[in-house]
Amino acid sequence: MTDQTLIILGASGDLTARLLLPGLGALLKAGHVPGLSLIGAAVDEGWDDERWRQRVRESAGVDPGGRWIRADVTRAEDLRTVIAAAAGPPAVFFALPPAVTARACTALLDVDLPEGTRLVLEKPFGTSSGSASDLNRLLARLVPESRVHRVDHFLGKSTVLNILGLRFANRIFEPLLNNTHVAAVDIVFDEALGLENRAGYYDHAGALADMIQSHLLQILGLLAMEAPISLEAGEFRDRKADVLRATRLWTPDPAECSRRARYTAGSSFISYADEPGVDPSRQTETLAELVLAVDTWRWSGVPFRLRSGKAIGSSRKEAVITFRKPPRVPDGLTGCDQPDRLRIGFGPDTLALDFNINGPGDPFELDPVSLQAEFGAGELPPYGEVLRGVFDDDPTLSIRADVAEQCWRIVEPVTSAWRAGKVPLLEYAAGSRGPADSLLAG
Ligand code: NDP
Repeated sequence: MTDQTLIILGASGDLTARLLLPGLGALLKAGHVPGLSLIGAAVDEGWDDERWRQRVRESAGVDPGGRWIRADVTRAEDLRTVIAAAAGPPAVFFALPPAVTARACTALLDVDLPEGTRLVLEKPFGTSSGSASDLNRLLARLVPESRVHRVDHFLGKSTVLNILGLRFANRIFEPLLNNTHVAAVDIVFDEALGLENRAGYYDHAGALADMIQSHLLQILGLLAMEAPISLEAGEFRDRKADVLRATRLWTPDPAECSRRARYTAGSSFISYADEPGVDPSRQTETLAELVLAVDTWRWSGVPFRLRSGKAIGSSRKEAVITFRKPPRVPDGLTGCDQPDRLRIGFGPDTLALDFNINGPGDPFELDPVSLQAEFGAGELPPYGEVLRGVFDDDPTLSIRADVAEQCWRIVEPVTSAWRAGKVPLLEYAAGSRGPADSLLAG
């Protein structure tokens, strides 16, 4: 591999310190990207080479050296200086507020980018299918689509990728994963954490855009896709795109198939509406639920229920495939009340198969049991995995342009209905299990 340059625009920010540099550090420690040149850039005058290197040492746990360039990335002349400092074609990571990213991309139109430059963009990618499409058109004028990496770090999580191994490298489950045998699929990402001082970002995003439109739809894509011929980027991303193109709301009425809610004071949390930086009149939801249909031969008629909430008492991060009841249980066998379930846990990373079997005592009385396994940890943290794809010029784990637009298309009827006040904003106490009127109840 030739020497690589990583340019981080927005290098003094939270994402760089908390996620990007630790991921880079793991990648470097594992021996990937030897000879990396690292360039950090932002506007603040309080940064220089020494402060940047210290940030890298602290966050990445390694010292690859590095250079700081003060730059307003919305100005073409500043971007020219940053790009010229790269040893070869750089990977440019936009760790910037989304509006600044869009302006930086526009400014890049006036910069000669070296052949082979890769552009790495964070979520949220646009705020609607229209704005995502505008941004896609702009990026297409800068570099080929294969060199655009739209990051969804959930696709760098080893458990999420293990869905592929579980489904397509085993004979046992895949034949059952269809509308003949599956009653429902739930993808839930409930976290105990609250706002964590991120009002500036979150109050404009909310749970639907922050989690469901991005991460959870990607998990749906992996759970519902047909088997790709290979994990080569074209094959894999085509199969994921097929399934997301076929995904829509369960019914045309968003009031029936979506829920939104906001936490009130509870546990150790103050009410979301009272958090510093929050504008309560925005009606930002901290919990969102959607029921979707994947309208393919395989999945037609099976509801996919997606939910994510903050400040939930018991954090629950899993995909659960609930199977239909057996067609008939012989008279005389009792206790077979629970449907079989396959659960894929996303932290802790586990796999569980729940089913009914003879328990102790009466051999005709069935009890639920659970076969459990743990997924081994991945070699790299999610951002390490994402960056490896960037350095290897392999866009397999990045979101393709059309898919970024599809994921907005799927949620847009809901965002419009919410904005128009057609779906009430429910409340739940922080630390509780969420609103009583949940679409996932039962
Ligand atoms: P921050 O607000 O913490 O950091 C933003 C960075 O952008 C700062 O370094 C800031 O530098 C820089 N910046 C702003 N304007 C300019 C400009 N005109 N020229 C150069 N630099 C500029 O944001 P985050 O790090 O939290 O988020 C960055 C991106 O990552 C966003 O798109 C966000 O949605 C995404 N993201 C963040 C996550 C997180 O956990 N933080 C998780 C997932 C995605 P300065 O201080 O000098 O202005």
